[in-house]
Amino acid sequence: MSLLIADNCINCGACLPECPNEAIFENRSASEAKECNVTEGVAVGDGIYVISYDRCTECVGHFDEPQCAAVCPVDECCIPDPAWPESKEVLLAKAGKINPEKAIDPAKAWGKVRSGPMAGKFASA
Ligand code: SF4
Ligand code: SF4
Repeated sequence: MSLLIADNCINCGACLPECPNEAIFENRSASEAKECNVTEGVAVGDGIYVISYDRCTECVGHFDEPQCAAVCPVDECCIPDPAWPESKEVLLAKAGKINPEKAIDPAKAWGKVRSGPMAGKFASA
């Protein structure tokens, strides 16, 4: 499942360099300029950072937990995007496709977004 950045983002920039998939951009326009799509209705008006669902893998394949959420100083800011309920297998394949030059470790597959307390909110998670 891709994550999204909620409206309480304070634009500190801490998350951007931590993403293994270059999925984070300073705003919606910057993301779309790179042909990286952002969920409809999120970050409209370019006021906050965004995560592109085309490139976010929940950090599966690279880290034990989403790095953006780990470094973000704001609670409930980097959160699951219910529009993209991808399985672990789909996320691993996505990680390999995005960065074919990087090693993908199937053991790095934090599942709390998909199987944790929030997963019940999403029927196909
Ligand atoms: S969860 Fe990982 S891959 Fe997705 S935006 Fe955050 S740091 Fe990048
Ligand atoms: S770390 Fe959090 S508050 Fe800072 S830019 Fe990223 S999402 Fe926004």
